[in-house]
Amino acid sequence: MSDPRGFITIERIENRYRPVEERVHDFNEVETQLPEDIRRYQAARCMDCGVAFCHWGCPVGSLIPEWQDKLHHGDWKAAFDILQKTNNFPEFTGRLCPAPCESSCVLEINDDSVTIRENELAVIEHAFNAGYVQPKPPKTRTGKRVAVIGSGPAGMACADTLNKIGHSVVLFEAADQVGGLLRYGVPDFKLEKRVIDRRVDLMRQEGLEIRTNTRVGVDVPAESLLSDFDAVCIAIGARQPRDLAVPGRELDGIYFAMDYLEQQNKVVGGAAVPPDDRISAKGKHVVVLGGGDTGSDCVGTANRQGARSVTQIELLPPLPRHRPADQPWPLYARLYKTTSSHEEGCERLYNLQTQSFVADKQGRRVKKLVAVEVEWGKTGNGQHELHVVPGSEREIKADLVLLALGFVHVEQGGLVSDLGLALNPRGSIAVDDQFRTSVEGVFAAGDAHRGASLIVWAIQHGRQTAAAMDAYLRGR
Ligand SMILES: Cc1cc2nc3c(=O)[nH]c(=O)nc-3n(C[C@H](O)[C@H](O)[C@H](O)COP(=O)(O)OP(=O)(O)OC[C@H]3O[C@@H](n4cnc5c(N)ncnc54)[C@H](O)[C@@H]3O)c2cc1C
Repeated sequence: MSDPRGFITIERIENRYRPVEERVHDFNEVETQLPEDIRRYQAARCMDCGVAFCHWGCPVGSLIPEWQDKLHHGDWKAAFDILQKTNNFPEFTGRLCPAPCESSCVLEINDDSVTIRENELAVIEHAFNAGYVQPKPPKTRTGKRVAVIGSGPAGMACADTLNKIGHSVVLFEAADQVGGLLRYGVPDFKLEKRVIDRRVDLMRQEGLEIRTNTRVGVDVPAESLLSDFDAVCIAIGARQPRDLAVPGRELDGIYFAMDYLEQQNKVVGGAAVPPDDRISAKGKHVVVLGGGDTGSDCVGTANRQGARSVTQIELLPPLPRHRPADQPWPLYARLYKTTSSHEEGCERLYNLQTQSFVADKQGRRVKKLVAVEVEWGKTGNGQHELHVVPGSEREIKADLVLLALGFVHVEQGGLVSDLGLALNPRGSIAVDDQFRTSVEGVFAAGDAHRGASLIVWAIQHGRQTAAAMDAYLRGR
């Protein structure tokens, strides 16, 4: 245990964000890190509990008390060694994870949890700066060939793990660069893309073969995978966006959030977009439909593009500010969150249902939307149901509407149907407890079978799928 009284004597101190007036003018990361000496004191708040619920709450099972202790004592190398035992990419989770571990921290019962995510980020960045993170190519190769389709965090974790074991892995990616939603969903102000490039460079040096601009099912026939490789992992994400079927949906100026975010990420990465194709919020009244993280990323992007106003609308009521009775410790509590993007300027409206979009005088572009207030109740069998509040109709100015309503499931056409993969009742790829799909030798990882989720789950499933594939390849 780092310091037997640390949790009593030291208060939680969090990383700061750069000032709003500075950060809205660029797309660089907003979060700044605490000095390393303060970070080491923060690690001393860990109580090294007999039963480490943080470890239980973390999808990758991070050995949290162990590396807090090393961090507190300034043994950064040992902290890094422990951290990387359970997580291929702590630099992604250290920046982006909502940290279910902190929700499960025993301190959370009556105090502020340990700053686990930020401590993780400090350890991995120190490790990179100190040169502890070096390519580790396998000493021998097994002679087995594996294809991993999709290079989001699930595909990257699966490919990385199998490659390090010694299998010869080809990572196929439809986009021009590796990273999946890390690259083209998450904005640079949360994750600068140099962080992905740094990791991909290492993976290449370790002998991983990466084929970008290759959509399997189009550029490579799906069936050839089965003959050319000993095992295949499908990690193509859950990219089918949820739409809103209301009058006026066809008007110009209404986009899926991913079309908007992907284009801006490409522009930040140096791509040239023809002016007619550019989706810009500059000088516009922007309405983001959907109160989740994707919506929040749209808010931050719209403010940086110079939006005139930004409104985020959510159908549901706001989440509770304190842990409700039905989400007791040590469960992960879904609480009201104000992100760095919200701080930058945005009106947040709840319990509003969009009923239609209204066109401008030319009848072509969206000009406003019509919404009604709703109240939530429960049916006799406990299902949530909404009631429209009579006479509550209102209009909201909207020159640009971004649909951030979540994703329904994996894209079921193309590769999934070509391979004839069975789907589960939620429309995702069906797998058994060994991540095997209905087709011999084909496995699935990440959002493709879990549905839209979190980076930390994608990494964990990538690792678990790799372990299952390794057992399969070795005939165990
Ligand atoms: C805007 C946004 C912000 C988010 N922010 C966070 C966050 O802050 N924290 C967090 O934990 N989670 C966040 N998430 C969720 C997280 O990004 C996903 O859960 C995670 O990326 C899923 O990983 P994956 O590898 O399963 O799929 P993806 O990241 O979706 O990657 C799938 C990849 O497969 C490729 N592909 C698809 N079909 C083919 C094909 N036929 N051939 C070759 N390649 C193919 C795609 O191009 C893509 O690169 C966010 C999601 C979005 C949309």
